[in-house]
Amino acid sequence: MRALALVADRKLELRDLPPPPAPAAGEVQVRVKALALNHIDVWGYRGMEFVRRQFPLVVGAEAAGEVAAFGDGVTEFAVGDPVVMYGALTCGHCRACREGRDNLCENAQGILGFHVDGFARDLLNLPARLAIRVPAGVSLRDAACAPITYSTVEHMLFDNAKLQPGETILVQAGGSGIGTAAIQMAKAIGCIVITTVGDDAKAARARALGADHAINYRTDRFESAVRKLTGKKGVDVVFEHVGADTFNGSLLSLKRGGRLVTCGSTSGPSTTINLMQLFQQQYRIIGSFGASIRNIHEALAKMASGLRPVIDSEIALADFEQGLSRLADRQVFGKILVHF
Ligand SMILES: [Zn+2]
Repeated sequence: MRALALVADRKLELRDLPPPPAPAAGEVQVRVKALALNHIDVWGYRGMEFVRRQFPLVVGAEAAGEVAAFGDGVTEFAVGDPVVMYGALTCGHCRACREGRDNLCENAQGILGFHVDGFARDLLNLPARLAIRVPAGVSLRDAACAPITYSTVEHMLFDNAKLQPGETILVQAGGSGIGTAAIQMAKAIGCIVITTVGDDAKAARARALGADHAINYRTDRFESAVRKLTGKKGVDVVFEHVGADTFNGSLLSLKRGGRLVTCGSTSGPSTTINLMQLFQQQYRIIGSFGASIRNIHEALAKMASGLRPVIDSEIALADFEQGLSRLADRQVFGKILVHF
């Protein structure tokens, strides 16, 4: 079977591997049909200091497929069922896992495609509890955006930032995969959405997607534009993932008592913040990483009710590397999908 593996930092190889054994008790075997690319794939491709992993490492962190076989004791799936897979090997029995806070698992064995072998292969076995059924009416192509992209946004906006209907939100980098998801999900509950984008064409697309205002951050200071758009008050919530380049501007865009939720730092991991501003303005800064299995069900349910992920492009497995470089260069609007 085919598997796309990193054999060294920045070196991918399409390999021919033996298929996995029959699934063990409690496992399902999944035939992968679609992958979605994320910045974590870019980080994994480049390599990061202090990340423990062994080469070759099969890449791919977010995927959808079909159940090809299942082991003893698995009663919830049949062959052919469409599924998506949770992106980390959680233990299933620690306190966090038992409470459904999967992304806080105390014994997680790593993120698939980053620390341990991922989804860019024809077949894989995994614990059935990490497979999530795709509801009727949702294509595997759309579903492939649920286990990381749409569930992460669901977790950020609703579990963490507690976004409410009628609130105003600033979505940073509205053309990115999670940016497009955040615009859609915030609009769907009746928020006023302001977003930032890198060019005028993306501004038009963000408005077409539902954003009330799109600011070109290359021609306008977004924090000034936000203050103008909100009558100097600022927004209730900022959705952050850009990091160093925007973090202080994002804080300046908040109203007093506003919430900033962040899940990324694509422009760099470090910045300084003004602590006086932090406590005087009573900001709440919330870190968010991944999602729970419940969030994946919620994201899929929204897709079943009509939420359509924004797909930038679909590429072949052989073009994975090109996809990563377009993602790193921000030459996308929505998700890049890799089909099998
Ligand atoms: Zn656990």
